[in-house]
Amino acid sequence: MSFGSWRDHFAEEEIVEALRELVRLDTSNPPGNERQAAEVLCDIAAKLGLDAERVPLGDRRANAVIRLRGRRRDTALLFNGHLDTVPPGEAEWTFGPHSADLVDGRLYGRGASDMKGGLISMLYAMGLLRQEGIVPAGDIILAATAGEEVDSLGARSFARDGGLEKVAAAVIAEPTGMDVVVAEKGVLWLELESRGKTAHGSRPDLGVNAITGMMEVLVKLQGYQFTSDPHPHLTPPTLNIGTIRGGVKTNVVPDRCVATVDLRTVPGMDHGMLLEDFRALTSGADVSIEVLNDRPPVETPQDHPLVVAAVESGREVFGKRPVVRGAAYYTDASVFAPEGIPFVIVGPGLEEMAHQPDEYVSVASVLEAIDYYAHLAMRFLGT
Ligand SMILES: [Zn+2]
Repeated sequence: MSFGSWRDHFAEEEIVEALRELVRLDTSNPPGNERQAAEVLCDIAAKLGLDAERVPLGDRRANAVIRLRGRRRDTALLFNGHLDTVPPGEAEWTFGPHSADLVDGRLYGRGASDMKGGLISMLYAMGLLRQEGIVPAGDIILAATAGEEVDSLGARSFARDGGLEKVAAAVIAEPTGMDVVVAEKGVLWLELESRGKTAHGSRPDLGVNAITGMMEVLVKLQGYQFTSDPHPHLTPPTLNIGTIRGGVKTNVVPDRCVATVDLRTVPGMDHGMLLEDFRALTSGADVSIEVLNDRPPVETPQDHPLVVAAVESGREVFGKRPVVRGAAYYTDASVFAPEGIPFVIVGPGLEEMAHQPDEYVSVASVLEAIDYYAHLAMRFLGT
């Protein structure tokens, strides 16, 4: 269907100021502090004529849930983005991480790309449809969530509160340079602990060395052969030994060693079976395994109407077919997809900017994405 552009209704300065206001708020996670950012989004939404609700999630934390009412109550499209960011990091920034400096068409700050830019685009896309007087067949719901960078606190609570009930599909505005991401790797973080028996370093025969015990187990894990079919959009599964701690002094036999392992999986792999294999590998050694983080690999079939709508909207708004691909990182899709919600990840900003010093987003990309999201929603939902 055809309708106008954001340019017909909003001044560029208004949208840029909205984004700057959001970037100036420090929502580094931990601790998160998303409450004020949720309030800012709700205020803008109210001005755009949208229903907005701030949902408190304990101390200084909150989701914002914003809605453009559709004609029917039995279907909806979910727009999703996270309000929190990773901390600015140790490296020196040329522009302050919360300065929201505007230089040569780039807006600098932690979260500019990942992903306050995408949130503003989605919000104004809903505002655009509202201004055009377009009523989609179902609701468009923007869930701006807390806590994605750590535990997906906001997405989990949104799902638990019944937020996904009528949702037919989800669009996640992580920075992809407007590529359409249809698959993301799963993640399984394990903590291994080996136990031994301490003794003087001159008499190792009287002790049991927890570090050598751990070494044997880690060598076995590193040699583990994944059995997975090649995935059209994802690189093969990986295993990384991330940390190791053990021992107190050179002349003491260590009685404890702890290591953490980061596994990235592809669709078709079962984390429960993987864990069983690993427990079998460590049997005989005095090593325990604890799961620290467990998110399944998820994907949406390429012929799903949501993917088709995402690709066709790219062709319509940008004049070329967007790249369809996978992503090695995880997003709130790992919370929504297991609930039966198909998803695409597509957003302004660049993936390589995420979590980097001097993070920025190009203002033009945020503005262009407004029309894109509006078209995507209407292609998917219809009137
Ligand atoms: Zn992100």
